[in-house]
Amino acid sequence: MTTSDKSAILLIYTGGTIGMKDSGHGLVPFDFQEILNEVPELRKFTFKIDSYTFDPLIDSSDVEPGMWKELARLIKEKYDDYDGFVVLHGTDTMAYSASALSFMLDSLTKPVIFTGSQLPVGSLRTDGKENLVSAIEVASAKDSKGRAMVPEVAIYFNSQLIRGNRATKVNATAFDAFRSPNCPPLAEAGISIRYNKAEIRYPAARTAPFSIHTELDTRVAILKVHPGITCQVARNVLLGDGIRAVILETYGSGNAISKPWFTDIVRESAAKGKIILNITQCLAGDVNMNLYATGKSLKEAGVVSGSDITTEGGLAKLFYLMGEHADNEKVKRLLEKNLKGEISK
Ligand code: ASP
Repeated sequence: MTTSDKSAILLIYTGGTIGMKDSGHGLVPFDFQEILNEVPELRKFTFKIDSYTFDPLIDSSDVEPGMWKELARLIKEKYDDYDGFVVLHGTDTMAYSASALSFMLDSLTKPVIFTGSQLPVGSLRTDGKENLVSAIEVASAKDSKGRAMVPEVAIYFNSQLIRGNRATKVNATAFDAFRSPNCPPLAEAGISIRYNKAEIRYPAARTAPFSIHTELDTRVAILKVHPGITCQVARNVLLGDGIRAVILETYGSGNAISKPWFTDIVRESAAKGKIILNITQCLAGDVNMNLYATGKSLKEAGVVSGSDITTEGGLAKLFYLMGEHADNEKVKRLLEKNLKGEISK
C-alpha cells in the first residue's frame, strides 16, 4: 500500500462539531481557514489537499436530501481532478448522509470518506485531528497497482473505517460514536492502517463510468412498533396520505403485534400498493419472517424483509429506489437485493 505523492484530495466541509466554536449561544460552525490553523499537521501531507466549503455550513441535524444532491453533483464535477474525497460532516446524521451517497454514487472507483468529531477541532482533547488526518490518509491510499484501497463511501471515526451504509451512531458522548453491527470494519487504524480487503467492495474489471443518481423520492415514514401502540397511530402511518413506503421497525427477528387489528392494517396498506420494509429494532442481527408466527403474518401480508440493513441504510435505499422507479413492485424486488453492500446476503 502506498500513499502516492501524486494524490490529490478534495476536502469537503459541510459543518458539524468538528469545525464549531462556542458563540456564547451554543456551538456554531467556523470557517475552513480556522480548521487549517487548528490542524497544522495537514501541511505535512506531501500531496495536494484542496477544499470546498458548503454555504451555509450546518449542524448536520439540518441535513436534507438537497444537500446530498449537492454533494453528489460536486463529487461528479470534481471526480477526474482528485484521487479521493473527504467529507467533514456532523456526526448526528453522518450515517444517513453516507448511506444516501452510497446509493447515489455509481461505479465508484475512488474513496469518499466521511468524518467529523465529538469535540471541536479547536478544543484541547479533540478527537477531530486524528479523525481528519487518518480520513485523508485512507482517501489517498492506493494499492501497489495504483488503485484506490477503499473505492467506497465509508465513515472513518475513532480508529475504524466502516462502510457508510452499515453505520449507525450509537453514542452521543463517547469518542467511539459509530458502529457497523452487521459488517466488519473495512480498516482499523493502529500504528498503521490495516485494510480488510476481504470486506472492501472493488469495482468489476470493466465497470461503467462513474455516474450519479439525484432523483430521490422521500415519501417514507418510519413506524417503530412498541407495546401500547394504538390502532389510530398505526393507521395514520400505514395508510397515511402522501406516504409511499413505511419502514416498520420491528422486534427481534422481525416480529410485530400478531393481533388481527394490526395485521389487518398492514394487509390493507400492502393491498393499496404501499411498500412496507421490515427492519429490526435490534442493533445487530437480521429479519427472518419465517421464524415466528408474529413475523410470518407480516410476510403473508406482503411486507418486504430488510434483512440486516440499518434504518439509515433502509431509508436511503428507499429514497433512491423510489426516485429511480415508479413501479412499487420493482422497488420491492430491488429492496431484497444487495446493491451497495448494505445487506449481508
Ligand atoms: N450536532 C452536531 C452535528 O451533527 C454533532 C456533531 O457533529 O458531532 O452537526
